[in-house]
Amino acid sequence: MEQETRARGLARRTLVKGAALGVAAVGFSATAGTWVADAATATPFDRVPHLDGELLLDAASRAADAVDQGRIVARTPGAVLRPGSVDDIARMVRFCAARGIRVSARGEGHTTYGQSLNENGLVVEMRSLKRIHRIDPRGADIDGGVLWTELMTAAFAHGLTPPLFTGYTDLTVAGTLSVGGASPGAGSTRGLQIDHVRELEVVTGRGEVLVCSADRHPDLFRAALGGLGQCGIIVRARLDLVPAQPLVRNYQFTYPGGLAPIGDLRTLTERGEVLGAYVTWASTGTSFVGQLLVSVPFVPGSPPDDGHLLRGLSQPPSAAAVTDLSHPDWVTQVNRQVDQMEAVLDYGHLVKPWFDVWLNDSEVDRFLEDVLPGLDPRDFAPGSLLLLIPAKRSGVDHPAFVEPRADSAPWMYLFDILDNSAAPGPDPAFAAERLLRNAELYRKARAAGGSRYPIGALEFTKADWIAHYGDAWPAFRRAKARFDPRGILNPGPGIF
Ligand SMILES: Cc1cc2nc3c(=O)[nH]c(=O)nc-3n(C[C@H](O)[C@H](O)[C@H](O)COP(=O)(O)OP(=O)(O)OC[C@H]3O[C@@H](n4cnc5c(N)ncnc54)[C@H](O)[C@@H]3O)c2cc1C
Repeated sequence: MEQETRARGLARRTLVKGAALGVAAVGFSATAGTWVADAATATPFDRVPHLDGELLLDAASRAADAVDQGRIVARTPGAVLRPGSVDDIARMVRFCAARGIRVSARGEGHTTYGQSLNENGLVVEMRSLKRIHRIDPRGADIDGGVLWTELMTAAFAHGLTPPLFTGYTDLTVAGTLSVGGASPGAGSTRGLQIDHVRELEVVTGRGEVLVCSADRHPDLFRAALGGLGQCGIIVRARLDLVPAQPLVRNYQFTYPGGLAPIGDLRTLTERGEVLGAYVTWASTGTSFVGQLLVSVPFVPGSPPDDGHLLRGLSQPPSAAAVTDLSHPDWVTQVNRQVDQMEAVLDYGHLVKPWFDVWLNDSEVDRFLEDVLPGLDPRDFAPGSLLLLIPAKRSGVDHPAFVEPRADSAPWMYLFDILDNSAAPGPDPAFAAERLLRNAELYRKARAAGGSRYPIGALEFTKADWIAHYGDAWPAFRRAKARFDPRGILNPGPGIF
């Protein structure tokens, strides 16, 4: 009798709903619908497969993966996998698929509206797999959990670099390939990060490990690039590298708020002589100040001809503030700004209801003429920024990455409102108000042929997703049915 009571007590303690630190799972109880930490439990359970890494149930590990950069939604996973190998991911996906447990891949969790979150299911921490397998002039072969900063450092040691980086580079390679990867520094000439992928290794929702490319399992390849992890978890990527110039010259022009910088941005983008150019607007508290930022790589002793490159703009070349940075310092400059915001504002804990849309060259001015005057600089707390980033269309079809409705220009523009709350901690009223704003701005963007960049915070129903994918929806749905027939992968965005 005493033994039975003890067994029941143990069972209660080991059917984990927030347990002690470092608790590892031994199984899953389908009857209780919970993970099990102790094989001595009285409740029947299915034992998890042998793993090279860890499968954790403790409250701290689960809480760490319950939020993202947006700090708007929270969903606590039932278990956290820190894979020790690709096989760990495949084994656990098969285990979960057989029991209908949802599985989310998580990079750095820097999307802002629950895209990487998962209530009660399994979160796979991709940062556990971060090996750089090969770097040479043919390209890079790396694990999906490698950060762009890490890839840059390794490649630069060989005189090489990925062709383009996101502004902030402490993001996982697979995390940005799952959304698209827009580059403020190089997008106007080199497109998107997904334009520079040769091959992926993917764990599908069936738990198979498949290598895919434009020629091999092309439907999986197409569904994975920009595909928010709906058809598979990207575990390894083979990417283009190009020669790295040791230095980058940065020009910074300042404008009053409004559309003033856009003409100059377009002049530079269309001319194609600089690597990248983009515009930011920041609030001074009472007005917006625009900046045009331009990057040109060079080798020591052969600096760019400023007067020639910056000819024909609304301001003389001499109006630009000029800074030369080493390639590594250039790639990581936004990281340092974010570190500073972290120190001063506790940036990671601010609510970030970001708005992000792609617009066509032919529509972007009209859209901004409509939208910018409606944004009140007094509403933007320190840390907030508006961004306009051009990206050259590659012509490569990435159906899961939804471009704005095509026009004849080779460029499209990403417009972001990267705003945040004034103080750390939850702020549901602020989030709700900004979600309404985002819905209204999205409606306008869509009317202008724009498309959602799904890194930000936007209420989206299944019908909205179907409309978003448009003509690409039937193929995306077919790929989902084929590669994730149990529909367990990445529920965060709410697409299926
Ligand atoms: C400060 C800051 C600056 C940024 N700057 C830029 C920028 O310049 N350009 C730009 O394009 N974006 C930018 N972003 C957005 C960023 O690209 C996306 O948020 C990106 O998804 C973040 O990568 P992550 O590793 O944090 O991915 P997560 O947020 O963890 O994941 C993103 C999505 O991909 C899925 N996913 C993650 N890993 C995998 C995988 N291995 N396989 C399949 N699916 C996976 C997740 O489930 C989720 O749905 C910025 C974000 C921040 C916070």
